Amino acid sequence: MNTKYIFVTGGVASSLGKGIIAASLAKLLQARRLRVTIQKFDPYINIDPGTLNPYEHGECYVTEDGAETDLDLGHYERFLGIHTSKANNVTTGKIYHTVITKEREGAYLGKTVQIVPHITDEIKRRMLLLGKTGEYDVIITEVGGTVGDMESQPFVEAMRQLQWEMPEEDFLSIHLTLIPYLKAAKELKTKPTQHSVQELQALGVHPDIIVCRTEKELSPELRHKIALFCNVKPGHVIQSIDAWSIYQVPLNMEAEKLDNMVVEKLEIPDLPEPDLDALKAFLDRLKHPEHEVDVALVGKYVELQDAYKSIQESFVHAGAANACKVNVHTIHAEHLNDVNADELLGKMNGILVAPGFGERGLEGKICAVKYAREHGIPFFGICLGMQMAVVEFARNVLGYADAASTEVNPRTSHPVIDLMEDQKSTTIKGGTMRLGAYKCRLVEGTLAHKIYGTDVVSERHRHRYEFNNKYLLPMQDAGLTISGVNPDTGLVEIVELPSHPFFIATQFHPEYKSTPEHPQPLFVHFVRACMSNRLTSSNI
Ligand code: GLN
Repeated sequence: MNTKYIFVTGGVASSLGKGIIAASLAKLLQARRLRVTIQKFDPYINIDPGTLNPYEHGECYVTEDGAETDLDLGHYERFLGIHTSKANNVTTGKIYHTVITKEREGAYLGKTVQIVPHITDEIKRRMLLLGKTGEYDVIITEVGGTVGDMESQPFVEAMRQLQWEMPEEDFLSIHLTLIPYLKAAKELKTKPTQHSVQELQALGVHPDIIVCRTEKELSPELRHKIALFCNVKPGHVIQSIDAWSIYQVPLNMEAEKLDNMVVEKLEIPDLPEPDLDALKAFLDRLKHPEHEVDVALVGKYVELQDAYKSIQESFVHAGAANACKVNVHTIHAEHLNDVNADELLGKMNGILVAPGFGERGLEGKICAVKYAREHGIPFFGICLGMQMAVVEFARNVLGYADAASTEVNPRTSHPVIDLMEDQKSTTIKGGTMRLGAYKCRLVEGTLAHKIYGTDVVSERHRHRYEFNNKYLLPMQDAGLTISGVNPDTGLVEIVELPSHPFFIATQFHPEYKSTPEHPQPLFVHFVRACMSNRLTSSNI
């Protein structure tokens, strides 16, 4: 069988959840034993989102091979349980960078370099790249942005060309649109969808299937009307109704027969029915929790729900694993201080201090660590959260009053967190952090070792600063346990406080590897510790 290519575009509005639809379809096809991956093409000129503020674009997701990518790749990995890579996220910036580099090398032999064909050729090359590895039967490409935007036009043009260059049964186009409900008229409206499909068709791309995001059920008449006006087969207009969980969407898509339409058009014969038992079991646990906990997520990008996406999702997975509803309360680190800590954190069963960069909100994060440490509240620090746990310990247990990370105070007399050696000569910001998967050796007898149940783990990283090993001995003497270390470099990866009910902090980002079917063990045990905390506090 040839590799099959499915393209997902979006119309009418952004944030309709193209990533979730792409991932849901991929899940259904994978559950029918096809080898599937998903890639995202983003229309911005940044080479990757690594240099973007989370307020601009939500969380930056990191892959095993150290690519800083769009958060949709997190959904792909979580839904499919596969690893994505650098090749799975392409931006306009990357495309232009390649073309301009080639131009400087003289590769175009004196030709005028143009959007068509040179940029579109490079887009097409990348759209087909993963298919050439022979590892996949189906490649789903999510085209970022909204059809009609000037900036995503070259992607749509590349799709148009591919549509004719490959056999008809190898290409499929899905358009995701919004059907707004007008309360005053008590009606669902199809006009924006009609216009969006017209726009797509004017660019030469004909959608095979239209998926309609909607708050209310679409009647057969409405579906028929959309099919008629948008020139797609009757029956190829399906609904994606607001779901109680994103993990329910694959089942909703199955009920709409999306996978059947796709395999039929792509002429893929003899597939078994989807095996979705593990997903259904997860959803069942998620829907019927027996316990409940309140967890504080202390960060500085809390206004934007997507800024800590992988952490939020990890709590969903870990909650389901414990039959526990985890209420995550985002707390603005900037608003937190020793005076209001009791009011803001006192009722929490656990405190997680989030990753981050720069000075804003740091003192609030330190205050959250202190509160958790002194009150025996389960604590989990991630990356900057770990670094601030170390700073707090140095200040308040060791008595190094001005202890700090040199990220914010290069003149501190106690640089307990300092720039990594190989970062000192780095001047370029993009893609130069310590990124991707590294090994961590766990120390026997520690909480981390008990939780993971193994000697060596691999987790993903994204940082420039590290625990300063000059402080190893005084910290250990004062009661901080180093429970995980990089076996090759000696970099400290995990710290914990054995004198505390549950206090663990990691330099790496465990949240990137959590999936519904394989919840991340540190999150699972943190939630468990929060459950015990709730029990003991309600007994008081
Ligand atoms: N700013 C810190 C560093 O670069 C932490 C980064 C993070 O939390 N991802 O080391």
